[in-house]
Amino acid sequence: MNEKKKFAIVTLGCKLNYAESASMAREYLKKGYRQTTPSAKADVYIINTCSVTEHADKKSRQAIRKVLRQNPDAYVVVTGCSAQLRPKVLGQMEGVGALLGTGYRDRVVDVTEQGQKGTVLLGPCHADGRFFPAYSAVGNRKDRTRAFLKVQDGCDYRCTYCTVPLARGKSRNISIHEVVKQAEEIAASGVKEIVLTGVNTGDFGKTTGETFLELLEALSGVSGIARYRVSSVEPNLLTEEIIRFIAETENFLPHFHLPLQSGSVEILKKMRRRYHPQLFKERIRYIRSLLPYAFIGVDVIAGFPGETEEDFFQTYNLLKEVSPSFLHVFPFSLRPGTRAAELPVSERIKDNVITERTNQLSQLSDVLYTLFMQANKGRKEEVLFEGRASGGKMHGYTRNYIRVERPYDEAKINTIEKILL
Ligand code: SF4
Repeated sequence: MNEKKKFAIVTLGCKLNYAESASMAREYLKKGYRQTTPSAKADVYIINTCSVTEHADKKSRQAIRKVLRQNPDAYVVVTGCSAQLRPKVLGQMEGVGALLGTGYRDRVVDVTEQGQKGTVLLGPCHADGRFFPAYSAVGNRKDRTRAFLKVQDGCDYRCTYCTVPLARGKSRNISIHEVVKQAEEIAASGVKEIVLTGVNTGDFGKTTGETFLELLEALSGVSGIARYRVSSVEPNLLTEEIIRFIAETENFLPHFHLPLQSGSVEILKKMRRRYHPQLFKERIRYIRSLLPYAFIGVDVIAGFPGETEEDFFQTYNLLKEVSPSFLHVFPFSLRPGTRAAELPVSERIKDNVITERTNQLSQLSDVLYTLFMQANKGRKEEVLFEGRASGGKMHGYTRNYIRVERPYDEAKINTIEKILL
């Protein structure tokens, strides 16, 4: 028994990584370890890395060096997408105890218990349908109102700028029955809101012959969960049926996240995306026709190789026309191992042009968000109060994802209240 041993988890990247870190934490706690914060001295550190951009890889290496400065004798386990894609780089870092690919997160405690320096577990992360179930609700203060629930992993698409399929393998999922069981566990911990997450979430059902809509229908019946948010869904997978279900189901919130990436047919072809800009427009319009105040966040990439001024303005004007609530703007980042990296160098966009286009889209996002907020002024909305904010306040989010602050009242934390915006 080693209950005195302290562990800390450093998580980088997406909601999926946060859910998986929380599940790894639960395994250590079950074994009698005590959790501490990443900035404290611990016997074991787990670094759950991200590799979505060059910068994310760099931050992952910095996180490893930081914990080793805090305790050079600690046993350091490195896992996550950067471990899967950059094993040589991370494996050679001084002081790393174990390197686990994205298919081996369920082995973190075993490997820690063995404590062998230089342990490496790598391989195709979807081998024999391997799926690491995960959700982030361990009952501590931060996680007690909203939980991320992983319903799907991996991706079978081959977007030319993306390394995620290389890091997380083929699209796969656990059964609806198992997801519902986890949602019930989350409800039992007192959490009221669940965010459904995955890599290509809308592709749920690939390995069980079920559908994403069937999953949503089953989850809507779990008692105790008052709110579901669905994270990013590919436009071609966000069917009108799913939009209608969300619009007609009380505990599914009017909050959508759609990756557009480009509004130019030519660039979408080069990206190997699976929809036409027209379909994207129709999806936004259909959402607005059923849910006029829905929050719609859109991902867009600036400066993909070969993007002309004309292509860029097709994207810009499309977004102005459909007027989503917010843009997540990503300057194009060349990733080794992707098809985009093989495109002729002559097609690459100059850094200053990428920066200029990124700024233009960010400014457009500010305008769109202001319009969204103004449209909601004077409306009544339900808020789930989550926790302390600065200045003696508490904060929470409306159903359509507007952040609200009110004077702090402990009794109102994790309660839902109708307020006037
Ligand atoms: S859908 Fe495309 S961008 Fe999204 S994870 Fe799959 S390959 Fe990457």
